[in-house]
Amino acid sequence: MFFDLPLPEIEETEIGMLHFMMSRAVFIYTFGCQMNVHDSEKMLGILSQEGYERAESAEDADLIIFNTCAIREKAEQKFYSQLGRAKALKRKQRDVKIAVAGCVAQESKAKIFARAPHVDFIIGPQNVHMIGDLVAGRNRASLTDDNRELASLDVASSRQSRIKAWVSVMYGCNNFCSYCIVPYTRGREVSRPSSSIVAEIRALAEEGYREVTLLGQNVNSYRSDLDFPQLLGRIDSLGVGRIRFVTSHPRDLSDELISAVAELPGVCEHIHLPIQSGSDRILSLMNRGYSYAQYLRKIEKIRQKMPEAGITADVIAGFPGETAQDHEATVRALREVEFDGIFAFQYSPRRGTKAAEMEGRVPDPEKSARLAEILKVQEEMTLRRNRALEGTIQEILIEGPSETDSSLLMGRTRSNKIVTIEDAGEAEGSVVSVRIERARLHSLAGARIDCEGLV
Ligand code: SF4
Repeated sequence: MFFDLPLPEIEETEIGMLHFMMSRAVFIYTFGCQMNVHDSEKMLGILSQEGYERAESAEDADLIIFNTCAIREKAEQKFYSQLGRAKALKRKQRDVKIAVAGCVAQESKAKIFARAPHVDFIIGPQNVHMIGDLVAGRNRASLTDDNRELASLDVASSRQSRIKAWVSVMYGCNNFCSYCIVPYTRGREVSRPSSSIVAEIRALAEEGYREVTLLGQNVNSYRSDLDFPQLLGRIDSLGVGRIRFVTSHPRDLSDELISAVAELPGVCEHIHLPIQSGSDRILSLMNRGYSYAQYLRKIEKIRQKMPEAGITADVIAGFPGETAQDHEATVRALREVEFDGIFAFQYSPRRGTKAAEMEGRVPDPEKSARLAEILKVQEEMTLRRNRALEGTIQEILIEGPSETDSSLLMGRTRSNKIVTIEDAGEAEGSVVSVRIERARLHSLAGARIDCEGLV
């Protein structure tokens, strides 16, 4: 995706709580990345302590929260259009309260209040832990200061899944990539103490969670009494089953971290390593801090230690000043690296970032054409990588029914590939060995094998 967060980007999800007797109900629209999805889980956890239950729809809610994303223009526009619709709802139900959270709230507080007087509360991503105070207090208020105290960040989350959990290990970012708004909205890097991360994951393991994904804008720069590879080692001993992490900055991906992923049994062999461009000139304009050759060297090290690892990346098409040659360098890089998957987006300027002031804007039709080519080449690479898995034995963690065919079960390999198998009644959270029968673009078809390895 546009910045360093991986896995299928969630444009908009809906998290709510069921109405229950006389309790109040909250409905959250979540835009953007996993960081926001987990912030919504935290807000639900806090609000449940304030007596809120989950509403099935915005119409059923006493409190509607828009948890916004400022990374790309499209997500921001979508939020404003949803917010406009909430105005009609508020006209019908005067008591309903509307809150705006997330990065747009942080960045555009005055604009939101001016454009949408029906908004009651504004809360920035650094103040998520204070949502309870906000809704219990004044009618119209805003909290967008950086007042993060580490202890207050250890809030109970109301999680969406019973087997997979997000766990924040750090907040904010110090990198100031020239296109990215995150350091301005989420603030500078702060690492959570290892003891509180370990306590949270130990409790998750006891509750039966089978997978944790450690979250941070740049987990490689995690620093407390432990560095990130040491933190992985500590978590690996807790028995949660599978450990993943997002996101890694290529400059900070150390040999120690690659070794930790290769050697620790619980850490899954999947690394999301945003490349953004294959052109050194553009990487420098982006302030990414690595060249393409340095990036490639990291990929080689990963594949030397873990030939089976899944490697994914983010790519930006049409960054200011990007020439046809720069774009071709990116396309060449996709062919050379052969990623398992990418999240690619057209560049969109974000107010307040350096890139927004740069000359040489690429016209929209050209950006679209470049993005289309990037996606087309990557489809070829993804299919090739998936086909290489045909006939192999993989261990998958069952997540539930397949979204495209509910008669099938869906699980993920350690390298984060989606696999569907016939439903033989395995529960969510079961680990099943499968033989990959057929590769598709977005998933693999598998057949379970018994313990002797026979289908
Ligand atoms: S500034 Fe930080 S969050 Fe934004 S793209 Fe760069 S590393 Fe990622």
